Amino acid sequence: MLSLPKRVKVLGVPVDCVDMARALDQVRDMASGNRAGCILAVNPEKVIAAQSEPVLRRALEGAALLIPDGIGVVWAVRLLWKEHIARVPGAELMPAICAASAVEGYRLFLFGASEEVNAQAVAELQREHPGIGIVGRHHGYVNEAGMAAVIDAINRSGANVLFVALGSPKQELWMERYLPQLPGVRVCQGVGGTFDVIAGRIRRAPLAVRRVNLEWFYRLLTQPQRALRQAAIPRFAWQVARAWLARPSQPAPGANGG
Ligand code: UDP
Repeated sequence: MLSLPKRVKVLGVPVDCVDMARALDQVRDMASGNRAGCILAVNPEKVIAAQSEPVLRRALEGAALLIPDGIGVVWAVRLLWKEHIARVPGAELMPAICAASAVEGYRLFLFGASEEVNAQAVAELQREHPGIGIVGRHHGYVNEAGMAAVIDAINRSGANVLFVALGSPKQELWMERYLPQLPGVRVCQGVGGTFDVIAGRIRRAPLAVRRVNLEWFYRLLTQPQRALRQAAIPRFAWQVARAWLARPSQPAPGANGG
């Protein structure tokens, strides 16, 4: 079994110190049956939301892999823990898992988004990755009564990797509730709006913008309806600064600090 990455906490929420390569190693290990579970993305909005949503917090604490999805979280880990981690956006991890599907034998199921987006995302992935093992798909607009049929479809598909695109915190709550009914699923990643990106409905920030870590600002400009959620970013920054100022002081060199 692969060793687990170092796990640190940012304002009480755990984050794994991984880069993309290490995250993919963990996915391989989980899929092989060593350690099944959820992959959740940690970003400033989710850290702040977890403070008032105990169910989200519990889901984060119970996840098998917590990727540093937002640059704010990367900076906080570097500042508070001196760990030099890199960003692993969930919107990049999912396509990377898809790209590895043929070689690793991953059997993928895509659950979530509208029927049109879901079908389009599947078609796009099949076009991009010949040999990809997509064994099933279902849109994400399902009521309580319809969920048993979705669970049944996932179980019958033989999927061992499930992507759930219901937005946060809906997808985390869904996983907590339904994953115990999906014994064949070894890896379950919450991917938010990633199907919309793959289907070409939402554009990610241009590479140059991503490189200077301003993807969050691009999203604010292009999806102003998210402004309320992004109001969490300054709160997050303020709380991290306070945690940094309140950190225990380092003993001076040569001091008898124990
Ligand atoms: N969605 C869904 N069912 C629902 C609510 C939302 O399938 O009941 C989908 C929605 O169509 C979109 C995704 O969930 O594809 C939410 O994307 P968003 O960008 O809001 O997620 P985030 O990454 O911000 O959590």
